[in-house]
Amino acid sequence: MVIILLGPPGSGKGTQGLLLSKAKSIPEISTGDILRGAIKAKSPLGEKANEFVTSGRLVPDDIMIGLIEERIQQDDCKNGFILDGFPRTITQAEGLEKILNNGNIKVDFVLNLTIELSSLIKRLVNRRICSGCGKIYNLLTMPPEKEGICDSCEASLYQRKDDKEETIRERFNVYKRQTEPLIQFYSNHGILKEVSASGDKDEIFKQLNKVIE
Ligand code: AMP
Repeated sequence: MVIILLGPPGSGKGTQGLLLSKAKSIPEISTGDILRGAIKAKSPLGEKANEFVTSGRLVPDDIMIGLIEERIQQDDCKNGFILDGFPRTITQAEGLEKILNNGNIKVDFVLNLTIELSSLIKRLVNRRICSGCGKIYNLLTMPPEKEGICDSCEASLYQRKDDKEETIRERFNVYKRQTEPLIQFYSNHGILKEVSASGDKDEIFKQLNKVIE
């Protein structure tokens, strides 16, 4: 099964992607996580991506399409995968189509997580992530039991550099301009499903499951 998660920054793509990944036993591929890993490791990809990621702009399409092509050819993707944060432009969506067509694979569902942009800034500035297992917390709605420590693996929590108000605003602008047109693109393909992303994460997950049944 191939699933694409669409939605603005902070709509819960990562949280829902991890839940879906466990439930369906297929990998969740987060291009943001891959880029942050590369930046941390100071790899050639990281050197190229750093400036874009830190300022909230998009890494160029050719780099992203190459990255995804390589990733989905790996063995763990043979039964399907969940894309979180890719595609983010029409050019990326077209690039993905070409790659998948070559492998005779089709996208089963594009799940669009819908939410009022106004509620997202609060969500994002309060987001914290586990440096060990990647679990996502929210200081207001889903805080860890011990401050700064992951409940699951006890590693320390960190705040993403781009989860600052000014960068968040830039990421929303980028989303509106470059990513939102994908809603129409996938709607035209007949595979778009809308799911409300406000509320409790387990409730949202239930709704997601309903639409992909
Ligand atoms: P995310 O974790 O999905 O919010 O992504 C964080 C940042 O990584 C974005 O603001 C972009 O700078 C970069 N990024 C992630 N995915 C893509 C993509 N598909 N195309 C271009 N840039 C991306």
